[in-house]
Amino acid sequence: MKLVLKGGRIIDPSQQLDIVGDVVVVDGRIEAAGVGLAEAADGARIIDVSGLVIAPGLVDMHVHLRDPGLEAKEDIASGTRAAAAGGYTTVCPMPNTKPVIDNAILVAGMKQKAREEGVVNVQIIGALSKGQQGKELAEIGDMMLNGAVALSDDGHYVESAYILKTGLEYARMFGGLVISHAEEESLAGDGFMHEGAVSAMLGLRGRPAVAEDIAVARDVLLAEYTGGTIHIAHVSTAGAVECIRQAKLRGVKVTAEATPHHLTLTDEAVIGFNTATKVNPPLRSTEHVEALIAGLKDGTIDAIATDHAPHAFEEKDMEFRYAPSGFSGLETALGVILNSFYHTGKFTLNEVIDRMSTTPAKILGLEAGTLKVGAPADIVVIDPEKEWTIDSNNFYTRGKCTPYEGNTLRGRAVATIVGGRVVMQGGEVKE
Ligand SMILES: [Zn+2]
Repeated sequence: MKLVLKGGRIIDPSQQLDIVGDVVVVDGRIEAAGVGLAEAADGARIIDVSGLVIAPGLVDMHVHLRDPGLEAKEDIASGTRAAAAGGYTTVCPMPNTKPVIDNAILVAGMKQKAREEGVVNVQIIGALSKGQQGKELAEIGDMMLNGAVALSDDGHYVESAYILKTGLEYARMFGGLVISHAEEESLAGDGFMHEGAVSAMLGLRGRPAVAEDIAVARDVLLAEYTGGTIHIAHVSTAGAVECIRQAKLRGVKVTAEATPHHLTLTDEAVIGFNTATKVNPPLRSTEHVEALIAGLKDGTIDAIATDHAPHAFEEKDMEFRYAPSGFSGLETALGVILNSFYHTGKFTLNEVIDRMSTTPAKILGLEAGTLKVGAPADIVVIDPEKEWTIDSNNFYTRGKCTPYEGNTLRGRAVATIVGGRVVMQGGEVKE
């Protein structure tokens, strides 16, 4: 099986490649990338991608696929189709399912199910504590030996510093990474949005920025003390960005991600009480958003992750206070980032692809995020100029909810190739 992508702009941050040329795929792997290769490729399926960008497939290190147990919201089949539609070739679901993925048998079972029902690669994140209860460590070693790529109690802050300390120590023995949902519960727990002028005006209880600052500071200190590796999920405050920046300067093994929504929306989006704007951590005020963008630019924030968090329509269609937090992000992320950051001149295409593919793959140690010869042929073809309007009715995800509804964006994925198979073309998922 031979496939050639012909005449595209090849951008691969993993090898500082930015040339116009062809990419040749044989038996699911990258055979070559360079100039004038298509002519020699007889018998190959040739896809003309002139005017388009060929890049390593996007890697989302933070999604919720709701499978097993919460399939009314999403499952492996619908979630990975949404991923393919968005240009993602690898997604990493969080373990806050029913049951919680907290032992090796469940990890192995999820991997099997993903191979059978998924259309993109799925890498499993195991729970840090049993049942994500924060009381007792989960089977960290067994899960890692059975293919878990990281450990997280995401959805909850690990309140016990002792549990996080020992978790970091165990994970370190197996070369593992702990991912922290950093919001101090006693401060954030009862809030509905960012605490500030807008929450005061709306009369909604807030989740103050300092709740995240405190949590990130503690988690970074524990990583420093143990020599373990921590990744801070969905960073949203200026204080957290600065804390991570300083920790990196000291040599602490800390990485961080930000979501497209925290990078592009402020708490003013909550005015009007659209439940699509209810997320944890909450949308912050402008000074936090600006600090986050600066952090993404200078490398303090390593990666962009969606925190794709689908809910059934009925669940989001209720009063703001009672609606669950989160919305579907996989199908809008690339367009939102290209529109807000590439087309405004803030980030280059190389930087966007690096933050959405190469670096998250590197953080998790995945064979992804690269077009190097011999690597799996996980590829996204991007039309950076394509104009489109977000309509959640057209989403593949079951969670038909987005704060970007009706927005017109410039730039989107037009083909997604996983292991050499074209799984999405022209916005249509093939399988
Ligand atoms: Zn989280």
